[in-house]
Formats: sequence, structure tokens, C-alpha cells
Amino acid sequence: MKKKIRVLHIDDNLHNRKLVKDALLTESGLFEVVEADNREKFITHLDEKDFDVILSDFNILGFDGLQVLQMVKEKHPNIPVIIVTGTGSEEIAIQAMKLGAADYVIKSVNHIRGLAHSIQLALQNKKNQKARKKALAALNKSEEKYRKIFENVQDIFYQTDNLGKIIEISPSVQRFSGYTREDLMGKAASAIYSDPKNREILVTQIFQQGEVWDYEVPMNTKSGVNKYASLNAHLIYNEQKEIIGIEGSLRDITDRKKVEEELIAAKVKAEESDHLKTAFLHNISHEIRTPMNSIVGFSELLNDPEVSAEQRKDYTEIIVRSSNQLLSIITDIVSIATIEAGQEKIHESEIDLDSILRLLYDQFLPNAIKQNLSLMMSPQQSENGFRIVTDETKLVQILTNLVGNALKFTSKGSIHFGYQLNGNEIEFFVEDTGIGIPPEMHEEIFKRFRQVESTTTRQFGGSGLGLSISKSYVELLGGKMWLNSELGKGTTFRFTIPFKPVKNILPEKQSFNSTINMDNHSKTILIAEDEDLNFKLLEAFLSGTKFKLIRAVNGLEAVEMSRSHSVDLILMDIKMPKMDGYEATKQIRQFLPDLPVIAQTAYSTDADKDRAFASGCSDFITKPINKELLMVKIKELLDKE
Ligand code: ADP
Repeated sequence: MKKKIRVLHIDDNLHNRKLVKDALLTESGLFEVVEADNREKFITHLDEKDFDVILSDFNILGFDGLQVLQMVKEKHPNIPVIIVTGTGSEEIAIQAMKLGAADYVIKSVNHIRGLAHSIQLALQNKKNQKARKKALAALNKSEEKYRKIFENVQDIFYQTDNLGKIIEISPSVQRFSGYTREDLMGKAASAIYSDPKNREILVTQIFQQGEVWDYEVPMNTKSGVNKYASLNAHLIYNEQKEIIGIEGSLRDITDRKKVEEELIAAKVKAEESDHLKTAFLHNISHEIRTPMNSIVGFSELLNDPEVSAEQRKDYTEIIVRSSNQLLSIITDIVSIATIEAGQEKIHESEIDLDSILRLLYDQFLPNAIKQNLSLMMSPQQSENGFRIVTDETKLVQILTNLVGNALKFTSKGSIHFGYQLNGNEIEFFVEDTGIGIPPEMHEEIFKRFRQVESTTTRQFGGSGLGLSISKSYVELLGGKMWLNSELGKGTTFRFTIPFKPVKNILPEKQSFNSTINMDNHSKTILIAEDEDLNFKLLEAFLSGTKFKLIRAVNGLEAVEMSRSHSVDLILMDIKMPKMDGYEATKQIRQFLPDLPVIAQTAYSTDADKDRAFASGCSDFITKPINKELLMVKIKELLDKE
């Protein structure tokens, strides 16, 4: 059964109540009417029961329709109140409606017939209002939700009008650009792009395609820092389908862009380095094969019985020169590897700079003469020399590279090298009148494997490592290196090192006496050497002397033989099976603390030398062994005894 509409009717006039009741009851049980004829009853009913609608007379004894309205509004704001009023009181009724009555009905037989319809209308209105309220609440909630998203997301949402003015932008723009939302509202959207042209391009694209997606643009920030954003945007229309602006979002992709750029740079670098390494391998292979070719070829010729003594001397010289060339390539490769591993260290000592320059001069002079070049050095050697503290090996290697290059790349004119003191720096220069270096290569040639000529038709040999090593050494020593050059006219390389004067004057260094007579030495030398060929070479070097040679083939044997034989000196190889030379020396030192031990090794770095001395070696000689130097070292040590 359908639920009845419950009506509370207040009227102090019985006739009127009946009129209303009759009008409602004709509606076949749709209504249930409760009547009240005074204020007290009305209040009691209102509090006791749940009504759907209130009908109220306007003039009630001691009470009136306006008070009824007020009371219902306070207690049950959702129950509609219909004023049922006498004829001629329409004005009052309209006033009541303004105060919140749902309707008014005139108490006349004619009008009262419409009461049921009026009630139903009021109830329908109430229902509609409730639904509207609910929808409004839902709308507010959803608006609040989107407002929060709008204010809190990292991305930036924006809207422009059809003239490109910003009409909305989220507060997150401040974190991205430094400009506040208020700074930007009403401004031209192009103001936020680093280059305003970007907006033109974008707008054209949006109009062509209706939208853009992940469009990367450099953006303007208040602090001037460059930032990147990824932009999505589309056109917005009004109900008449007219374009009213653009709406979109921006995402900060500065970090992504940075990583991307770094990756691209790393890729380019890796490809370049790969390319350079391949080129380097080709060069190196060429650089190694050339001297090897001479060594192998001329060594074979030495066996030919037809070869005269003079030719044999020539061939031997070629073999020695080619071997030295090979050695310098290997030294360069080892130096680069040590520099790259960050293991290159400075070993400072007190040196006489003038003597070092003189030695270099003497070393390069024969080549200069051969090439018809004049070689100059300044300052000329002074009487007392110029003593400083620096790493001699590195300084010599830098100067050797630079003077060697100058000779290599100069076909006529002169080479001039030297130094001058500039305050607390010593500035070196190596100047030539050679082929010069094109400006775009001035920085490039200091990079590893870089050469001005990179084709296989290269005119000049070389590994492309010398300058890179030299520059690293100069920087390690605390200086810098640069060059000036003009194509076809010549090049000047310059570098500085800090000037560190010596504190104490050193005693004069003993010079090597290259003609040593070993005849008087009839002592025993223990050669610790696992390689037969290396042993044979030492045996050959010492064959003209009266030394008695004994051999150990590993470190362990070297220790045992030092114990069981009366040994005067040991030539100790470092890399040996069973026990290496470092360990063997350490053990021998325990029972023969004063025995001279010369480390002879292919490990040639300063670190290797330091390790040998730390193990107790008295001296150090690098393979390939220079016979003369070996003799000097043996003599020095045996003479000391
Ligand atoms: P290498 O000489 O073994 O090739 P470097 O690193 O010493 O390696 O030199 C790199 C390149 O720099 C050389 O190949 C040459 O192109 C250029 N270069 C160096 N010194 C000179 C110079 N004095 N005159 C002209 N070019 C030079």
C-alpha cells in the first residue's frame, strides 16, 4: 500500500478545517490529515509526529501563519508550509511566500480544489531541492578535490585565453620557475618560454593537430637558470564551439634532460675514444713493426759471413737504435696507463737544471746536425749551475718529448729551447721553425692518441701520446702547458713548473767513468734470473771481466745460494717463479745486511723502483740493460765494500 501523505493543518475555524479536510479526503486516501485549532496543539503534534507538509491559516487566535513558518523552519526546515488564507489576503500570502512558504491557497470552494495539487507540487519541489543540494554537495566535494590536486601536484597546469594571456596557472609554477602564480596571471604565456618563438611554434602545432604531446621546451626562470619542461596542450572551446584558449600542463624535465645530454656526450666520447683507440692500435702496430722490421732483418744479416766488419757495425747500430725506439713506445704506453690509473707520483730531488739541459742538448745535437738544423739552448750553462728541486725523470721526459717533436716536425731552420725564471715559476720553451699546427688542433693534440695527421698516409711516425703525457706531467708538477703556432712558420711550446730553490748545496755528483776496467775484480756475482736469454745476455756483458758468475733460477734458490756460497754481489731479477726478487732480497738482507743487490727488472716505473729499495736492494737497473751503466753500478757497489 502506498504511504499516505501526512498533513498537519492548523486553523482555529472549524468550518475552514472541514473545507480543507473534505478537499483532501476526496483524493481517495492519498492524505492523512491531523488538525490543530490552537498553538499548543499544533506544537504538540509537530513534536510528536513526522509530517510531510504543514497547512496553516494566516490569522489564528493568538498565533499567526508567520510564526508557524518560523517555528517549522527552526524545528523541521525540510517540511514545506502552505498558507491557506481567506479571500482578499493575497498580499499577506505573498509576503509569507517570500519568508519561505511553499505556496498559498485561497480558502474558497473553487480554489480549495487545487490544494491537493499544491501539496504534491510542494513535495516534489522539496524532493528536487534535496536532490539539487546533494548534487551541489557532490560538486563542491569534487571541486575541492580537484582544487587540491591543482594546488599540490608537481606538474604545472595552465590556461590561456585566445589571445595567449595566462588566465589560470597552478601554484607549483613557483617551485619550477621562481615566479609566483600572481606574477604570471594576466601575462602573455610567451613570457615563460626562454625563447618566445617557441610559443609561436607550439600554437601553430596545436592549431594544426588540435594538441601537442611531450613537447620539450627550454623555460625561463626568475634566477636565470636554464630549465626544461615537457608540455602537453590542447585547444579549449565554448558551447558554441568557438576556440576560447589553450589548456595544458608542464612537467619539469631538467634532470632528465641533463642525464640525456650527459649520456649523449658520453656516447659521443665513447665512440670518439673507440675510434681513437682503433686508430691508435693501427699507429702503434705500425710504430712497433717499423723498428721490429729493422731489428729482425738486420739481425739476420749479421749472421751472413759475407758481411764486412764495417757493415756489421752499421747493422748493430741500426738494431740498437730500433730497439730504443721500441722501448720508448712501451715507456709511453706504460706512462699513459699509470697516469690514467691516477698512480703517477712525484719524486722530487735536487737537480742542476743547466746540466740537464746540457745533456739534452748533447743528446739531440747529432740529430739536428744530420737534419741540417741549428740547435740552440738558453741560458748557456752557467758556472755554478742552477739548482732546483723537482722530479728529474718527469722534467727530462717532458723536454725530450718537446725537443724530439720539434726535430721531427721541422725540416729547415732552427730549434731553440731553454727556460727563464718568472717570479716563483720557471717557464720553459721549445721553439721551432717547422710545419706549425693549425689553430683547431691546438687543444686537440694534447689529448691521448691525437695527431694533426690522422690518415694512414701519415708522413710522420709517433703514437700521439707524447704531448698528452707531457701535459699530465706538467700539471702533476704544479704547472701548465700551452703553445703558440703558425702554420708553415713554426711552433713554440711553453710550460711552467713551480720554482723550488734548494736549501743546501749538494756535493758534486760523481760522473760516470765510461771506461771501467773490471780486470781487478775477481769476485763472485750471483745472477738470479729465470729467463735463459736474459741470463745469457748478462753472461755476455760480463764475459770480458774476471767475475765468477753463478746462477739461481728463482728467488728461493737465490736465497739458498747466498747462504751456501760466498757471494760478493747479486743481480736480482724481480719477476721470478716460486719467490719474487723483492721477497728474496728481504730474506737475504736478514743474514747478509751489507751485500750489494742490484735489482734488474723490466718493471720500470718509479713505484717499482721504490718497492725495490724498500725491499732492501742497493740499486736498480731497468731492462733492457745498458751494458755500460751495469758496469758502472757493479763497480760502484764493489768499490764501496
Ligand atoms: P706523436 O708525436 O707521437 O704523434 P705527440 O703527442 O707528441 O705524439 O704529438 C701529437 C701531435 O701533435 C703530433 O702528431 C703532431 O701532429 C703535433 N705536433 C706536436 N709537436 C709538434 C711540432 N713541434 N710541430 C708541429 N706539430 C707538432
